[in-house]
Amino acid sequence: MNHFELLALIQNCQTIYTFLVDRGLLASRRECVCSAQMILKERQNTTDGYIWECPSSNCRKRRSVRVGSFFEDSNISLAQWLYVIYLWSIGESNKRLSLLTGLSLRTIVTVLEKIRNICSMKILNGNFKLGGRGKTVEIDESMFGNKRKYNRGRVSEGQWVFGMVERDTGRSLVFRVPDRQRETLVTRLVREFVEPGTVIISDKFSPYFNLNEVGYIHLMVNHSENFVDPYTGAHSNTIEGLWSQVKRKLKAMNGTTKGKLPGYLDKFNWSKLHQEANPGDRFQYMLSHIAEIFPLN
Ligand SMILES: [Zn+2]
Repeated sequence: MNHFELLALIQNCQTIYTFLVDRGLLASRRECVCSAQMILKERQNTTDGYIWECPSSNCRKRRSVRVGSFFEDSNISLAQWLYVIYLWSIGESNKRLSLLTGLSLRTIVTVLEKIRNICSMKILNGNFKLGGRGKTVEIDESMFGNKRKYNRGRVSEGQWVFGMVERDTGRSLVFRVPDRQRETLVTRLVREFVEPGTVIISDKFSPYFNLNEVGYIHLMVNHSENFVDPYTGAHSNTIEGLWSQVKRKLKAMNGTTKGKLPGYLDKFNWSKLHQEANPGDRFQYMLSHIAEIFPLN
């Protein structure tokens, strides 16, 4: 779906409703507490344009079309929701989102937090793995924000971020980590997100020393001495490239407060995983991830 088609879709409550029902994001039928089948009624003065109403003459209960859906706890219109998700998926800034939707920046931030949560849940529950036989994954840790580097030191203390990137494809994952213990880096992250049998390249950092024993082919490089190991040919250029991408994105967002870093990393991960897709497809992917993570009830 391109921008023009999206604008046409969100002009009309009926097309919005049908579009969201087709994607499993709104219910197509609803039972009343009195067990009667509710009827969908057009209500022009409401945000969504429709409302469920009980046909039983001694009940007549009404319910919002959003009940039991991802949109339930929000008071922005469904048209605005779709437009925000679309603009976000094509990489527009928060400022542009606010300008184009007429929503305040504060509202945009709240809405985007919900979207970023979807990114993070999708990655954590997605059985998503990097590497595999014949593939190489570079891993590394990087300190974010310790040098008061981003915009007047809004990231006040340093935070460790662990990164994994697949060579050739550039598919990658980055996570904020509480520490750099083997338990955190290898047991929780590498083994969770990298297929066994993968060639893993890291620096000479002791938490990684057991990678050969847990099913990987481990090569090490020494950042300070050489970028390409003269014996194995191992190098870590791909992960260095990843760090500069992550840091450039963060800088473009004027840094971020400490608590929000994981959210930004989730967005980064999600965008990287769908980097091949065109913007319209990323929009559809996000909608299908919402439907998957927030099934209707
Ligand atoms: Zn009823």
